[in-house]
Amino acid sequence: MQDKENIDSYEIKYAVPSYYDIYKHGGSTLKNDSRGMRLMLQYFSKYFTEEQLQSNMQRYNIENMLAIVKDYFFREYGYTGNNIELNNRYQRTINSYIYNDKKNPAVVHIDELFESTMMAFFLAMFKWSKDFDNPEVYGDCYVYVLFLMNDVSILGEMQGEDANRALLGMVADDLQILQLAEDCYWTVLAFSLAHEIAHAYLANIGKKYTKEHPEEEEFDADEIAYHIVLKIIMDKEVRGTVLEPYTYLAPMMYMDFFDMVYYTDWVLYKTFFYNETHPTLKKRKGWLFAIVDRDEYYFDTREGNYLYRGFKEVYKEYKIQTILKMERGKLVKIIHTEQREKLKELMKGEEEDD
Ligand SMILES: [Zn+2]
Repeated sequence: MQDKENIDSYEIKYAVPSYYDIYKHGGSTLKNDSRGMRLMLQYFSKYFTEEQLQSNMQRYNIENMLAIVKDYFFREYGYTGNNIELNNRYQRTINSYIYNDKKNPAVVHIDELFESTMMAFFLAMFKWSKDFDNPEVYGDCYVYVLFLMNDVSILGEMQGEDANRALLGMVADDLQILQLAEDCYWTVLAFSLAHEIAHAYLANIGKKYTKEHPEEEEFDADEIAYHIVLKIIMDKEVRGTVLEPYTYLAPMMYMDFFDMVYYTDWVLYKTFFYNETHPTLKKRKGWLFAIVDRDEYYFDTREGNYLYRGFKEVYKEYKIQTILKMERGKLVKIIHTEQREKLKELMKGEEEDD
């Protein structure tokens, strides 16, 4: 790819060739709002009317969130990001990126697959954490998270209607879980959008990074993105609650999500994913914790800390169960080595194109 410094690196894994048109219009769309809403209504019928769901979808959608994030870029950094467009189509990747050839408008890509994966991931993880002592819920949630890691994230298959039904069946009528998942989802989405725009901003102010330390740009982009997320959280009085304070550790969960994907890839396919431009997730997460510790950020963190403790419990449990099951030969059926090899080949081909 011609302009590597402005492209995120995780995404190169499954990314399509680097022409502006493809970045802008590439991919297909699978989203079907009315189908999604029908399912929601069925499982959460006690709590919502159709009008409520519809107005919620209008208030919270990716375009609105992008506008809010851009507004904060202007307020905090004097950067309008006017030439940044959004591509939200399905390109079979959970990785977000920005394509910026500096001639055309820059394109931020947030895949439909990422959106639906993140939402499902939070639903399953929080439900698992909440009902940890219930063996049935425990089993269902583990299998679902494994499915999200393997089939969806590693192999790039969008969950079908069956999978959505299974998930909603698991969390049916548990309004608290739906709320937690949705709130964390929006914080992660704001963080991802801000991270990608931060790359454009850093290029715009002409910040240079040395070849020896390409990871510095990732730390800077994370810092800016987290600053914006925390500002939105703290600005409650100004524009009402856009992001809930208790979701302030959701960007850490986002790092943990990728860690779980790479861990699963390693356990199932012996893939050791390492990328020199992206510092390890552990370091990026540590950096986020250092940032939120600063005096300039103040809000009530108790609920958020509690939520993250529960999340970490199931995060660890997932890892232990997965390696144990692998060792006992219980995961043979879900391993699709051939499909995985094809994706790896594709990856190699794209790296050679660079
Ligand atoms: Zn990045």
